Amino acid sequence: MFKPTYHERNLANLEKLAPRTKKAAMEWYNWCIANGIDVLIYETIRTEEQQRYYVASGKSQTTRSYHLVGQALDFVPVVDGKTDWNGYSRPEIQKAITKAKELGFEWGGDWKGFIDKPHLQYNYKGYGTDKELDAKQTSTSTTPKTTYAVQKGDTLSKIAAKHNTTVDALQKLNGISNPNLIRIGQKLRVK
Ligand SMILES: [Zn+2]
Repeated sequence: MFKPTYHERNLANLEKLAPRTKKAAMEWYNWCIANGIDVLIYETIRTEEQQRYYVASGKSQTTRSYHLVGQALDFVPVVDGKTDWNGYSRPEIQKAITKAKELGFEWGGDWKGFIDKPHLQYNYKGYGTDKELDAKQTSTSTTPKTTYAVQKGDTLSKIAAKHNTTVDALQKLNGISNPNLIRIGQKLRVK
């Protein structure tokens, strides 16, 4: 199978993207590989400091770049193992750009005025909207799980009182059907 010249660097850069953008960008990149199209994805996410530098040097015109929020990537065609900065009109690259647009990307080469051919951005619901995939899931998974080891003389109601919870809640958390059956050293989730 065809392997892009800069495959590892491409994957490392793709990894930094916001979740939905990453999914779409991976789909695009895998399509490129399947079609034998070699590209270097040379930049994805940028810091505000880098962006200020780009604006100052004329490489970018906005301080609200989609790169800052992980919703854009910059790529360059690779021909015979070398980057070709004039290669955007090559037929296979045009095909790759069409594919990117089908996947929901906007191409900087279509912009009026400031044309930015390396640039593909994923708008989703606008600037900075591609954040955590599921806020609910993330919040439960980041809640620290507190465990408590049962001591001699403990009862479930004592443990509940100590941790500001209820016997019922502890039973549910730990799958305990009989609240009188706990043993010393047993680890219980209390939150
Ligand atoms: Zn860009």
